[in-house]
Amino acid sequence: MSSTVPNAHPPSTADSVPRWKGRPVPWVAQWTGEVPRKPRPEVRYEPAPGGGTRLAYWDATEADWWAPTDNHEAMLWRRTGTGRQGEPQYAMLNTIRQRQAMTELLCQVCGQSADTAGGTAWLMHSIEWQILTGGRGGSDPFWAQAVTGPDGMTPATTNPPTCASCWRTASRMCPSIRKHGAVALVVGAARPVAVTGDVFPAGAGIPEPRRVNFGDEDANRTIARLLVVELDDVQVLPNLSALPVEPRTSTS
Ligand SMILES: [Zn+2]
Repeated sequence: MSSTVPNAHPPSTADSVPRWKGRPVPWVAQWTGEVPRKPRPEVRYEPAPGGGTRLAYWDATEADWWAPTDNHEAMLWRRTGTGRQGEPQYAMLNTIRQRQAMTELLCQVCGQSADTAGGTAWLMHSIEWQILTGGRGGSDPFWAQAVTGPDGMTPATTNPPTCASCWRTASRMCPSIRKHGAVALVVGAARPVAVTGDVFPAGAGIPEPRRVNFGDEDANRTIARLLVVELDDVQVLPNLSALPVEPRTSTS
């Protein structure tokens, strides 16, 4: 490709990448101080707007429920802070920032737009990409369920975009990418279709972590943790250098 990257910052680590003890931390990462202290949320069932019952926090507010559009039935979401207190948990995604990155197509490393020529820039771990494309890259059933669509073919993921300027930073920061490599993509559209979350049993018992589609029967007894999007018009680039990067034109 010889196209330009309208919203790219220079390929060095952007100023908007948070830091901890001088080291860059992905914008989307969860910090220890953002996690509720109680191991289990206090929930109950209440009448649902559409009939039946739904799970709710004891001190429920409207902000607890969220749906990508008015056509989706809102789901209950995990409560989480966004203040980056404590220490970063590099392998965990902050629920609010992950959802924002997916719906506004923001870079998971720097939090800026991941817009690029032809769509949105995405960096996929090689192992995740193998699963998405039907390879045998992973055996964790929860992970495989999260990234594989209902037909087993549609690429779906909880892994937000990475702007082209941050591809090299991401490759340096992520131990898994350093070890296994990554695939660079340009994605035409990302459609929210599901969440991964904790599904509470109808009776007593322990919540089960798994994928739940919007509108599913189980959606009213799920606490969503991460948004799952299906990827349309996916273009695989031959390597990380295939998309040229231009300096930002703005002064931000
Ligand atoms: Zn970025």
